[in-house]
Amino acid sequence: MREIDLTHDASATSWIQSANSDDTDFPIQNLPFGVFRRSGSDEPLRGGVAIGDQVLDLATLSQAADRDGLDGIALQAAKACAAPALNDFLAMGPAAWRALRHALFRLLRQDGKSDIDAIRQSLCPMAAAELALPARIGDYTDFYTSIHHARAISALLAPKGELPRNFQWVPTAYHGRVSSIGVAGQTFRRPHGQVLQEGGVTPEYRPCQRLDYELELGLYIGVGNAPGERVALSSAEDHAFGICLLNDWSARDIQAWEMTPLGPFHAKNFATTVSPWIVTLDALAPYREPWTRSASDPQPLPYLQDDGNRAAGALDIRLEVLIETDRMRSGERPPQTLSRTTFAHHYWSMGQMIAHHTAGGCNLQAGDLLGSGTISGPSRAEAGALIELALAGQMPVQLSNGESRSFLEDGDSVIFRGWCERKGFRRIGFGVNHGRVLPARP
Ligand code: CA
Repeated sequence: MREIDLTHDASATSWIQSANSDDTDFPIQNLPFGVFRRSGSDEPLRGGVAIGDQVLDLATLSQAADRDGLDGIALQAAKACAAPALNDFLAMGPAAWRALRHALFRLLRQDGKSDIDAIRQSLCPMAAAELALPARIGDYTDFYTSIHHARAISALLAPKGELPRNFQWVPTAYHGRVSSIGVAGQTFRRPHGQVLQEGGVTPEYRPCQRLDYELELGLYIGVGNAPGERVALSSAEDHAFGICLLNDWSARDIQAWEMTPLGPFHAKNFATTVSPWIVTLDALAPYREPWTRSASDPQPLPYLQDDGNRAAGALDIRLEVLIETDRMRSGERPPQTLSRTTFAHHYWSMGQMIAHHTAGGCNLQAGDLLGSGTISGPSRAEAGALIELALAGQMPVQLSNGESRSFLEDGDSVIFRGWCERKGFRRIGFGVNHGRVLPARP
């Protein structure tokens, strides 16, 4: 578990004034990592850190010799971030991540000690930056670990309406597809697939008619493990670098027909959208909560429980889903909120997902991405997918401009926001994750 330290001091401000505004996602207490270049340029992609409305370029920053406060392991870490993907930096581990965070905090803090004019040379306005996938993602695993989501889906779709028997014992997951993961702003064609109409005998191949989103968080693995080496729950988070917002777009009609017995394929592999900034577990230290399991539920097997996880395994990450339809866009109306929830409700913790992933001997590698699974809260208003909000089409969601949605239509953008706030600490945010549905190819 990461410690709360001086980088979480709520009174700290930056000499970059936009980082001090109340509504920024990126105050000096956050310092999330991403990969960028100037929009429209052919510059190489390189690592950067978001601060207010600026991106701090870690390639140029680490080239300047003898930068005050950026030396030793922190300087090595910054140099690793000069690459077009952050994998080498992620592989360096928690001591390097923390050293660079502390060095950047000192350089950006409003205390008059750093060479502000020199550091300014390494700033790029975020509005002028093109953001890319922050890492070469080797493998993507998507979990199914919100009991509120699983209960709602089971009630709607399972033959007896019951949770799968293994849900309360196993942090369930499937291995996902990496090639179609895109960064926020991704657009994709409505997928085709095989669909069996209700009561039908022969499936047909056609565009998806029940397109949905899934509100998830994505966890980037930093330090891997050797094949056959199990990661204990007590050290699981030493392998985890940080978290982004993730939309696991899902074709429900294709999924219903193809998913038995081997899991989703066409229903999930056409697109997955991640937000560009990785908020580090270090930055998230103040927003931990106890992980709890109701006494009436099965308690986890020994490899999936320990005191540290009980004490602080949960994370209170607040989440919001918005929709922007073509009509909203053309009428210049703002996107409309569909739901809000928090990750604190989740049935299995990120640490438990890592411990379980490796429990059979599977090796994780730097840059691997773990999806949390759809994040839904206890009430329907907190649902993380449209299929839950609209009861699988039985109760379409009414939008304020007169439109309604049971599933997504062409032109719809889905927007996720995430943030953390807690009394005594600065609010930090994840930025925006958005993606848009284009019509199916003929
Ligand atoms: Ca999912």
